[in-house]
This record gives sequence, structure tokens and C-alpha cells, in this order.
Amino acid sequence: MNMRELLDLMSEEFPVKIIDEPLTEEEFTYIALHANVENILLFNNIKGKNMPILTNILNSREKIKFLLGVKSDHELYSKILYACKNPSKNKVDRFESAPFSRNNIGKNLSKLPILKFFPKDPGPYITSGIVIAKGPKSGVYNASIHRLLVIGEDKMTIRIVPRHLWRLYREAAELGVPLKVSIVIGTHPLVLLAAASSPPFGVNELEVANTLLKGRLDLVKVPYSNILVPKFSEIVIEGEILHEEALEGPFVDATGTYDIKRLQPIVKVNAIWVSPNAIYYTIVPSSEEHLILMGLYKEAIIWDYVRKIAPVKKVRLTRGGCRWLHVAISIKKLSEGDAKNVIMAAFSAHPSLKHVIVVDEDIDIDNPYEIEWAIATRFQATKDLVIIPRARGSSLDPSADQENMLTDKVGIDATKPIKAKEKSFNRVKLKPSPKCVEILKNLERLSV
Ligand code: MN
Repeated sequence: MNMRELLDLMSEEFPVKIIDEPLTEEEFTYIALHANVENILLFNNIKGKNMPILTNILNSREKIKFLLGVKSDHELYSKILYACKNPSKNKVDRFESAPFSRNNIGKNLSKLPILKFFPKDPGPYITSGIVIAKGPKSGVYNASIHRLLVIGEDKMTIRIVPRHLWRLYREAAELGVPLKVSIVIGTHPLVLLAAASSPPFGVNELEVANTLLKGRLDLVKVPYSNILVPKFSEIVIEGEILHEEALEGPFVDATGTYDIKRLQPIVKVNAIWVSPNAIYYTIVPSSEEHLILMGLYKEAIIWDYVRKIAPVKKVRLTRGGCRWLHVAISIKKLSEGDAKNVIMAAFSAHPSLKHVIVVDEDIDIDNPYEIEWAIATRFQATKDLVIIPRARGSSLDPSADQENMLTDKVGIDATKPIKAKEKSFNRVKLKPSPKCVEILKNLERLSV
């Protein structure tokens, strides 16, 4: 399925909004960040850009649930975790069968509509690139999402944190060779979801995506890097990660603040392949799409850890916590002390986590006011607070020691005691009569 067919499918459930007005890159960024999350946005006229630009296809749980054909959060988490544990071999097709195989546009990155999102960005950034690499010695495949800053006609810097791509890069360094990579921009969104998950090293995320797609993710081998990539990719950049570095950043990361500058490896481009009528898919930094994609797998892992301790109603990496640093968890407490164990489990599940708030199942954690109400009425700092100083944390938080990835962690147990007299902790509620509902509706109308 190519991007246009995918949009047709998604438009059954979500409005695809086409924007033909000429816009600057900054105007594009603003609209993408502020549009209703229901919408999928396709921009046909960004100044100086020669392709339609697509964004906000994965910016809500609802869209991801639709693509996976599931209804509840629990099914969503189970499906992602199942696929990570049960990757399945992709079918491999001839290179010539891929639509992009007929169109090699050379190696000049300025031919792609790569965007500079914010005025103070150091240059245009690829934010939706799935970087696929194969260990030159181990043969291990890995697919992960990395930001890439264009620093020359055929050169970019790539931000790599010490995870799986890093291990393959080290493997290449030991052999004294560059690490060949293929960077895919625009393919089935479930491939992005798989690449944003982190199954253990050695598990190929393309095979995870194949399980998510019920065996329908066919691959082809591209000629320069000899790497398998999805057959239906809008754009494929073949290149190699050199053992040379250049400054990367500052980049607006999940926190919505500029990340620090670092020396990062350089990617040299060898070939760019573009499908006919290609759509350029991009993820706006700090958008809901960025955060959901980054956080959803971690939410699933936290759910999986916590449910071993107590029945879990809901888990949310919250919007205010950048869907990365804060989690709220609602549980049915079975014994006193459960909430503290839940706090410890959540910190183990997601090492970047900074603050954990645990509440009872009557609190709707999608509503920040309810979480605050639980803290106001069910929390006492001298007995319900857990502080862990200077633990391994996220590099994203500007208040942390970003160089050494150290941060203070706090857990808040805002659950009521099990033996509490119900009435002292429960909110007094009235059941509205049909007349009340009717009158309130009319009041709304009158006020317009
Ligand atoms: Mn991996």
C-alpha cells in the first residue's frame, strides 16, 4: 500500500484536510502544531518545496487503534508487545517491483522538500526517517527513527543515542568500515510504530511491523547499501554513517525546548530514490505526533510491568510531561502499599521517567484536574512521597544533568487508604434527572 492508498483508507475515519494556500515553513509548523488532532494534514504548496507534504497521521491513539483494528488501550498495548515478541519474516520481492526503483534522483538532498521547522533551527531536518542498518559482522538488522540535520548537498548529521543503531555503528567501527544505512521516508505508519518500539537487540523491527501488518510488509533490497527496505516507500535515501562527527543541534525536542548541541556522526548520501507522485511525510518536532510515536511503546511496557502488581485501569504518559517524563497510572488497589510498588515498577519499565503519579480507578487520568484533585485530597507527603535522587534519567529535560543523564525522580501515591471510610474520600455526586440535562442543554443554546 502506498501513501495515497493509505490516506484513502484512513479518510474513512479521519478527515484528510488538503491545504493549497502558499505557506512558509514556519506557517506550516504552526498549523501542524495547532490543528485539531482528528485531522490528517496534506500541504500542497509550501514555498520552495516540490512535493506534497503530509503530517499528523499518527498523532492520536485513535488513529493507531484504527490502523491496528483494535478498540481498547489494553488491546493496543497487547498487540504491540505481541508483535515485538513474535516478529515474522517478510516476503522479499525483486527490487524492480518497488515503485521507487525507477527513479534515482542522484544524491543531492536539496531535491527533497526537507523542512526547517523553527526559525532558529540550524538547518532543514528529516524527522520521520526510518534508519535501517545491518551489522557488517553480525548481520543483525535494526530499524529505528533518528533525526537527521542536512549540513551539505549530500551530508547530514544523525543523532544516535547509545542503543541498537549505535551497537551496529560500533561493530562497523571495529572493522574499520562505515555503516551502510537506508533511510525510508514515508511508508506504512505501522512500520514507524515498530521502528519507534524497542524490542531487544537482534529483533528486526521490520519483522515486528510485518506481524503488525499480518504478513503484508514486503521488502526489496536496494542496490548501493544492499539493505532490505519496505517495497512501498515514498523515498529511500541510501548512505553510510562515517566515523567522522560534526555538530548537531540545537533541535526542538519532545519538551518543546531546544536540546543541547552535540558532536554526532556524519551520514554521506550515495543515492536517493523517489516514487512517482511521491508524498513527503514529516513529523513536526514537539507535536503530538512526535510525542505519541515516541511514548506509546513505553506506555505499553509500563502497563505490562504494572499489571503484574495490581489491576491497571489506565496508563498515560501525560501531555504535560511531554508523553515521556511523567506517567499517571490508575489502579485498583488490592493491598496497602500497592501504589508504592507500582511506582517502582514504572521506574523500572521506563528509565527516562521522572515523575510517577498513582491514583485509584475512580480518577480519570485523561483529565489533569482529576489527577490534581486526587493529589489534593488523597496524598500526604510524609508518607506517600518517594524520592530517588540522581538516578539515570532522560537527556531531554533541561533541569536534569543532561550530559550524564542524571535526574531526581519522584513518585506520588495519591490513592486513598483501602480501609478508608468511603464517604471521607469520595466525591459527592448527584445523578441528574432528564429535566436537568434538558435545561442545561438549553442554557448552552441561550448563551450562544
Ligand atoms: Mn532495535
